[in-house]
Amino acid sequence: MNIHQLSLSEFVAWCESHGEKSFRAKQVWDWIYQKGETDPDLMTNLSKEFRSLLKEHIKVGSLRLEGKEESKTQETIKFLWKLKDDKLVESVLILAPGRKTVCVSSQVGCPARCAFCASGKEGLIRNLTADEIFEQVYNIQHEIGEKITHIVFMGMGEPLENYDEVVKALRMLCDENRLNFSERKITVSTVGVIEGIQKLADEQIKVNLVLSLHAPNQHIRKKIIPYARKYDLADVLEAMRNYSKLTKRDTTYEYTLLAGINDAEEHALELADLVADDACTVNLIPYNPVDGLNLQRPEKEQIELFRSILERKGIVTTWRYTKGKDIAAACGQLALKKSSSLKILA
Ligand code: SF4
Repeated sequence: MNIHQLSLSEFVAWCESHGEKSFRAKQVWDWIYQKGETDPDLMTNLSKEFRSLLKEHIKVGSLRLEGKEESKTQETIKFLWKLKDDKLVESVLILAPGRKTVCVSSQVGCPARCAFCASGKEGLIRNLTADEIFEQVYNIQHEIGEKITHIVFMGMGEPLENYDEVVKALRMLCDENRLNFSERKITVSTVGVIEGIQKLADEQIKVNLVLSLHAPNQHIRKKIIPYARKYDLADVLEAMRNYSKLTKRDTTYEYTLLAGINDAEEHALELADLVADDACTVNLIPYNPVDGLNLQRPEKEQIELFRSILERKGIVTTWRYTKGKDIAAACGQLALKKSSSLKILA
């Protein structure tokens, strides 16, 4: 039995059915989720008999660490996990002063098939379960022995296409008896699944929501994001604005700059008009090369020109300095295979 799949009350019931007092369940929970201790033998305030029972029946998690790779700058570490059905999935730890961010995957592969992305190349393989999503954060925290400060759902997959499991994982991450994350420190990124955005706005979890916009109009967007054929840009933006209004969270639009496709001056002007009325930030991401995709990153001067046009128009921008390019851990580069340089641990 995988303990990440149980609620505390289910575990209390299990303990009681095995002749243990209910408070023992909370003690075990504290060892696992507060102290990060997974070995029953080291849970010193439990009886020997109860520890044996736990060893016999309880497992902490199901992911196996298959490989780990650190970028040259030591700012990014990529983790490759093997799931119980031997599928592979990746998460990335991004280190910055005062911040330890984990970028989690929500699906194996991705149905959205964005033109610039390695994860979407093979389409959707399967959804991750809530415990598999939660465990990526739990395990990395355990690996590095320090508290993770931020979580972003920007790894493999379109989170809102795996809505129920993602929301369940969010609740587990924020559960005060588990990792007790603040909703403000969690960001979910979507290509614009309108039903998911609307549903999430009505949940009592006010996480930050980011739209992968990537184009200043529906015509270009359809070329970059096949999902845009299903969802009109005006409707997606309306759903995002409604989310922002209901949750009181500012909006962030991500914009991957692709040379010759969406990086011209006219695109910057059109983008500025499109988001002019939003309390928003536009996060510019110069394209990260992916093997087999015939796309180019714009020249630095073009990126700077694009950014300066937006700023002149009063749009707040960030230019995401891309970390982890050398280990293919940057945005859009996560793929479904072991990279040749991945250090294999097992
Ligand atoms: S960019 Fe995100 S949504 Fe698009 S294919 Fe890649 S993982 Fe899926």
